[in-house]
Amino acid sequence: MNTRYDVAIIGCGFVGASIAFSLIQKGLFSEMVLIDANHEKAEGEAMDLSHGLPYLSPMEIYAGTYEDVSDCALVIITAGANQKPGETRLDLIDKNVGILKTIIPQITARPFEGMLMIVSNPVDVLTYAAMKISGYPAHRVFGSGTVLDTARLKFLLGQHLDVDSRNVHAFIIGEHGDSELAVWSGANVSGVPLERFCQFRGHNDHAGATRRIYEGVRDSAYEIIQRKGATYYGIAMAVARIAECIVKDQRSVLPVSVCLGGQYGLNGLCLSIPSIVGRRGVEQILEIPLSEEESNALHASAKQLQEVIEHLNL
Ligand code: NAD
Repeated sequence: MNTRYDVAIIGCGFVGASIAFSLIQKGLFSEMVLIDANHEKAEGEAMDLSHGLPYLSPMEIYAGTYEDVSDCALVIITAGANQKPGETRLDLIDKNVGILKTIIPQITARPFEGMLMIVSNPVDVLTYAAMKISGYPAHRVFGSGTVLDTARLKFLLGQHLDVDSRNVHAFIIGEHGDSELAVWSGANVSGVPLERFCQFRGHNDHAGATRRIYEGVRDSAYEIIQRKGATYYGIAMAVARIAECIVKDQRSVLPVSVCLGGQYGLNGLCLSIPSIVGRRGVEQILEIPLSEEESNALHASAKQLQEVIEHLNL
């Protein structure tokens, strides 16, 4: 069995560099190649990160080129413009699809057989574009999706209930963006339905609390960008969690952005759905039970993404 895994990060700005930092703490990879249009930036990040290696697992970190992606188990794309205050993720489409069109052919030109993870925004649209441009099968191309948003939901619920957020089981699905939705109908804390658990903790305004928490999740990125200009630590930890699932073949259920093939009556677009993630990438997209309201919200989110991808010309 292969015990050596290499990773490439394409785009070494706030997000790419934070992902690199987060990944090296986990000791998952033997080699990490950093690629950026600004090669000096990638070199600087590689030097800075390497200086912590005496305190971590041995590995090699270097600024490289597309020649270096061939042996990678995972390529993570974060290249592209980020949201400016007041911009939505969908505002970034043209710029970032254009950037993908320059990056992906340089990967497909090599004998790369690993997984391709998209992080750049709008992540669902770019995951779809990456799949189309690369021609790779859907299980090998996925986006970080709402893995971050789901962590935000668990964190806020844990804070609200004053309970360990790891015991909170709930998902944000749909677009990683303004039309995303929380699956409240299946949410629970260690198997206790959420509303019941809220009552245990003395919270009786369930509708008000769930609305506030959902809005808090949906608007997190805007709130952070307003204050510090960009978001990067949360997504870095979310990506490291997905990478861990792949390298260790954990088959964890994570809401990555994937191309749907008929699930929920939806076809040929990417959005986030809880899926089993392992060494082969997305092993199964799960059709989880949804209330009627949630199902309608998922279809509304899908409709919005469908309209966007129809104009992509891919
Ligand atoms: P940034 O501007 O700090 O970094 C972008 C990097 O991409 C720069 O270093 C730039 O040189 C590089 N780049 C641009 N074109 C390139 C190309 N053709 N090839 C290689 N490198 C190229 O931006 P950031 O804050 O790191 O954000 C990066 C992306 O991540 C944005 O699209 C942002 O919206 C997205 N993001 C996604 C999530 C998520 O949950 N999916 C969270 C936060 C940010």
